[in-house]
Amino acid sequence: MIDQLSSYLFTHHAQSIINTKHVGICAICGRRQSNVIPLRLSDNFTAMEYLYQTGWLCQPCGFLLRTLTFRTSNWFVSQKEFVTLKWNEILPKLQSLTPADTPFLLYSTQTYKKQGWFLLISRLNYDREEFEIGYDMNVITLSQTRITLDSQLIRELASYKCNKTSMRKAEIPYYILKTIPDERRLILLTELGKRKNNIVWEWMLHFTELDSTTSPPIFLASPPKVVVEHPKPKIKKEGLNKWLI
Ligand SMILES: [Zn+2]
Repeated sequence: MIDQLSSYLFTHHAQSIINTKHVGICAICGRRQSNVIPLRLSDNFTAMEYLYQTGWLCQPCGFLLRTLTFRTSNWFVSQKEFVTLKWNEILPKLQSLTPADTPFLLYSTQTYKKQGWFLLISRLNYDREEFEIGYDMNVITLSQTRITLDSQLIRELASYKCNKTSMRKAEIPYYILKTIPDERRLILLTELGKRKNNIVWEWMLHFTELDSTTSPPIFLASPPKVVVEHPKPKIKKEGLNKWLI
């Protein structure tokens, strides 16, 4: 059974092992393997601190190291497929996982140049509800609940014209705050405050695509005692002009 990222990707890319007659510990996955190859790194290799101190690479890890795709794209690998993803395809992919997808791994990047896949080497996910993903040189834990709640919060804030920069800082500019209905204002500020400087929130903001044509769901921080219906906020002309000088 394949229980390690490099073997998974090696197999998906129809690679096969060449007999080298060498046995050694792989500098990337740290396992004692047969048919290892000598480790040779280019001068601009920057992930030295993630390597085991050996002079060998197993062939699957060697394949990952020399293949640019794994650091220059977002990708998903599961039992049935390997796919590269555009930034806005990542969340839909994670929200539509099926049993056939496990075990799986997802690597996402904002820089498109780091060797962040190193950190995923032995982290295959078997749980579709809560799992770990790579985000450049970080591993973050996501859950379907967290994705749903954060997506709703982002969409509701965006419906009041709050931009991603403000959301990232966990601040709502005063001229926007004035347009938010009283019963929503404190909830939104509290929820934003909880997410300040949080890497999952940063990740959610980066990879959430805002579609202005769909109306946002109302974000519910906890089950409400009373469901309050409220109209879409209207910005008063005079109020807005005051802030547009
Ligand atoms: Zn290896």
